[in-house]
Amino acid sequence: MTIASAEYTGSYIHLDKCPKADRPEYAFIGRSNVGKSSLINMLTGRKNLAKTSSSPGKTQTINYFIINDAWYLVDLPGYGFAKAARSQRQQWERMIESYIRKRENLICLFVLIDSRLSPQKNDLDFVNELGEWQIPFTIVFTKTDKNTQSETAGNIKSFMEKMKSHWEFLPQYFQTSAVKKTGRIPILELIEEYNIRFGAIASKNP
Ligand code: GDP
Repeated sequence: MTIASAEYTGSYIHLDKCPKADRPEYAFIGRSNVGKSSLINMLTGRKNLAKTSSSPGKTQTINYFIINDAWYLVDLPGYGFAKAARSQRQQWERMIESYIRKRENLICLFVLIDSRLSPQKNDLDFVNELGEWQIPFTIVFTKTDKNTQSETAGNIKSFMEKMKSHWEFLPQYFQTSAVKKTGRIPILELIEEYNIRFGAIASKNP
């Protein structure tokens, strides 16, 4: 898929203030500092579309971008920074749960996992929660340029092994590096495939 246009639409705190659910939507989530902004910028081919941060704890908003005037890309606030106050965490949980469970045009949630690390409890807790909620998702292992291929493969394998104890079926996953610009095309192809399916369903139910 060629990205002809990518524009920031707005930032929201409440689901009912989000743009009209009239286009297929894809959301990205992960621990803060996982490389989410860098991935969004790589996917859209825009240097500063999503704001990259060196300090965790950016504003906790749901950020919308419209791509090719056809679909929404959603940047969800990151989880898992240890210093966040309990009240801030609870607010995050309420906002995210409501968005993920109720947003009717959300086609796929991309959960970003840092490929440099062995399985982390908060990532596993989060994907297991998605299972409880029956939310389809895809995993993206980020920063694959940082370790050797075999270290990255080992971390991915361990993460999948951990998931197996909770899951009957394992989700699809991708590997990316924003530094080497790898992993972009397969993700955009998946989104394109979903967009075509969504279009077919929408035209059957106008
Ligand atoms: P976010 O907080 O999840 O949005 O993460 P950012 O995109 O702001 O990235 C956090 C840090 O990781 C920044 O210093 C980025 O330069 C770095 N980073 C992001 N993606 C990659 C990657 O693929 N490879 C490497 N080596 N560093 C990355």
